[in-house]
Amino acid sequence: TVGAVAVDKEGNTACATSTGGMLNQMEGRVGDTPCVGCGGYADNLIGAVSPTGHGEAIMKVTLSRLILFHMEQGQSPQEASDLALAYMKERVNGLGGVVVVDTKGTWAARFSSLQMAWAAAQQDQLHYGLYHGEDFIEPI
Ligand code: ASP
Repeated sequence: TVGAVAVDKEGNTACATSTGGMLNQMEGRVGDTPCVGCGGYADNLIGAVSPTGHGEAIMKVTLSRLILFHMEQGQSPQEASDLALAYMKERVNGLGGVVVVDTKGTWAARFSSLQMAWAAAQQDQLHYGLYHGEDFIEPI
């Protein structure tokens, strides 16, 4: 997956998700990526989400919209991501990762999968890295 979320200075949000699908997937499989609310969601009143991971699990919990729901209820992007990823693991045994931003530009990159590479550009600052579990591996 390559996923991106963005917010402009007026608070307009956007998400984009691209995928090669899952290894050995069935011919004709449609994963979560093109499904609104699953493989991405953006709402100018809340924020934007782009996920990666087990598409069937992501669809069963409508992961992107679930994260924005938690943010609507007052959770930060990080808290909302952690809640939704924990729920996906517990409820449907699915793993994944997400990049999230709210309308003010607060962002999070969180995952329940073994590792995830991410980058964030905020005005003139660039943050990036590869995390393997809790361990920071190396800048990429
Ligand atoms: N979510 C994708 C799928 O299930 C896989 C990925 O790119 O993370 O098709």
